[in-house]
Amino acid sequence: MLKKFLLPFFLLIFIFVGYLFFNTISDKIPFARQPDGFESSMFGVDSVSAISHLSKFIQFPTISHKPAMRDTAAFGAAIRYIQGAYPATFSRGTLQMVNSYGTMLWIFGENPGLPPLVLLGHIDVVPVDGNLEVWDEPPFSGNVRDGFIYGRGTLDDKGQVIAMLEALESMFASNVQLDRTVIVCFGHDEEIGGDEGGMAFSEILGEQNISPAMVLDEGGVIANQLVPGVDKAVALIGTSEKGYLNLELSVSIEGGHSSMPERETAIDILGNAIRQVTQKGFPFEISDPIHGFMDYLGPEMPFLQKMAFANRRVFSPLIRNTYEKKAASRALVSTTVVPTIIKSGVKDNVVPTFAKANLNLRLLPGWDAERCIEYLNDLIGDERVAVHQSEGSMYSKASNPSPIDSEAFKILVQTISAHFNDVVPAPYLVLAATDARHFESLTPNVYRFMPFRLAPDDLPRIHGNNERLSIESFLEGIGFYQRFIFNFCNVEKD
Ligand SMILES: [Zn+2]
Repeated sequence: MLKKFLLPFFLLIFIFVGYLFFNTISDKIPFARQPDGFESSMFGVDSVSAISHLSKFIQFPTISHKPAMRDTAAFGAAIRYIQGAYPATFSRGTLQMVNSYGTMLWIFGENPGLPPLVLLGHIDVVPVDGNLEVWDEPPFSGNVRDGFIYGRGTLDDKGQVIAMLEALESMFASNVQLDRTVIVCFGHDEEIGGDEGGMAFSEILGEQNISPAMVLDEGGVIANQLVPGVDKAVALIGTSEKGYLNLELSVSIEGGHSSMPERETAIDILGNAIRQVTQKGFPFEISDPIHGFMDYLGPEMPFLQKMAFANRRVFSPLIRNTYEKKAASRALVSTTVVPTIIKSGVKDNVVPTFAKANLNLRLLPGWDAERCIEYLNDLIGDERVAVHQSEGSMYSKASNPSPIDSEAFKILVQTISAHFNDVVPAPYLVLAATDARHFESLTPNVYRFMPFRLAPDDLPRIHGNNERLSIESFLEGIGFYQRFIFNFCNVEKD
């Protein structure tokens, strides 16, 4: 009797396990490595002068604080410097300066019917805080040490700007003709929002009804040992970036004398609300870019992880557990929230009537201010706590995920896999903001990828101390841009 009852049960389990295994085994890398006809010998790069160009470019202190604090001399000199260092490129294109320091170079292709490629970067950098002594080489020296070029901007984003220019220069010095127009856009205020650079470039293109075939910006990198379970380096291609929002929690109640306090003060109520928010947080969610990430990387993983990614609905709790362990991976699978400023109280013996806190949120695609406020109101469940958008602070929703089945994305993936044959490309969600987000109204094909290799200890160097770029990786990155332009713009060589 028992046997009869158990038989269908075991049969079901058998079928289910079979289904999981089938999904796992049939989970294949969604791209093919193919030769692309590009030879690195086609366009020579003088590595000594490339290194010297980057080194000199680092020496201009193009720091972004506020527009009013801009060192205009440094920005002016930096722009003049690249114009002089890349004569073949600048003479081939039509230069349009935007808001004084934004560089827009239009290099027209032979075929005006092809929508253009936008190569996006920025020449401003964040300030250097704290103790300069901890830098192995001074931050605005561009000095070379142990195979690395040191300085603020080497990774974010002057290394990328110079690599793009070196690639273009080497190609134009060899007299190539591009079929497709390339528009080089270098912003000068990316680190403070990009209104005068990135946003203005996008408006100029929009006014001319130009919808680029692709916008390629910084954002993802080649991550060495950064993705758990994948031994190979991963080329992270940002297909979306998280949004940015500040919310204010405020409590206003009767105060009183501190000699006979009520059980609950404004501070207690606010404290409880913050605890609810930070302990419960936002829900676990696999957004489109992370689905793409799992599709591309699952096949590269050890069997159990591969099975989890291939059957992600079934294994969702397991994936959630793994990803929620660390701050960096948690940020990929949920909207995050953290209290950053708290204000209350005026005098040591007065019970405050008012308390408020600023919450900084980074939004997954699909979350906007209204939805976050509603969600947090429910989570806090206390009508005495008001949740509002912080006045005058920056707000942007997550960018719309760019497609991973477009021709543009395929050429990008193909070029990455042909150029770096030990690297696996994968879609990705960029956690920080870039100028690329200003272009999403023009084209769905906005991708964020910088072709440099970074190890785990390199990540804190971005906006941190001892920012540096390996010479080997820099030169490999120049080759990547040559190859990408070659593949994307139908290059013809004389
Ligand atoms: Zn940047």
